Amino acid sequence: MGLTCLLCQNQFKELNLYQLFRQKQQRLICYDCYQQFENIQKNTTRCQFCQKKLVAEAVCNDCRRWQIIYPNDCLKNTACYQYNLELKNLIRRYKRYHDASSCEIFVALIESELKKKQYDYYVCLPSSPKHSQERQFDHIELIFSKIIKPTSILTYVEQQHYQAQGEKNRQERLLTTQMFTCQDFKFDKYTRILLLDDIYTTGRTLYHARDAIRKVGFLGQIDSFTIAR
Ligand SMILES: [Zn+2]
Ligand SMILES: [Zn+2]
Repeated sequence: MGLTCLLCQNQFKELNLYQLFRQKQQRLICYDCYQQFENIQKNTTRCQFCQKKLVAEAVCNDCRRWQIIYPNDCLKNTACYQYNLELKNLIRRYKRYHDASSCEIFVALIESELKKKQYDYYVCLPSSPKHSQERQFDHIELIFSKIIKPTSILTYVEQQHYQAQGEKNRQERLLTTQMFTCQDFKFDKYTRILLLDDIYTTGRTLYHARDAIRKVGFLGQIDSFTIAR
């Protein structure tokens, strides 16, 4: 039976591809399209902390900077895919049209990797209220909630609060100003939390989320998981 690829709209046969890969994404998108997504887990050389693709070094420039701010306490991130053009386009399409098929493709692309992660709490990073209002839903949480049960404890701090901070330069403000507040939920102090986000860019938002959670007294392990790096 022929299937229609949700990305290129070409017809493809389920049987052959299913025999080859036996994975859900091959029933949604064709093999040619699937190959455009570069699975980071298959790369040999990557940053030991954030999984950025590297040529030789073991720690990327972003994480070197974090090592200075958080000595011996770098966030351990698992990223699924290289943030290449295909992934960028799919994220853009999803954010613009909120289409169910993009969401389904993301779920299929990350499901097996995310299911390997056993944590007590899964916390999605909230997008700015302005953005989620425009989109009528939190796009990131919608993807992840189809795989795990998210715990909503973080609130985005409005941008205006930053700007009131006077003459600090932009770089300094980016590093020091908190982006999130965490509600004091009844967690067991020593459980494990996995932060979830779409793209790991510099790691700033994830580090800020971790700071916010620790600020309310959480002493357990906090790691992160992103669709792309
Ligand atoms: Zn295709
Ligand atoms: Zn890194």
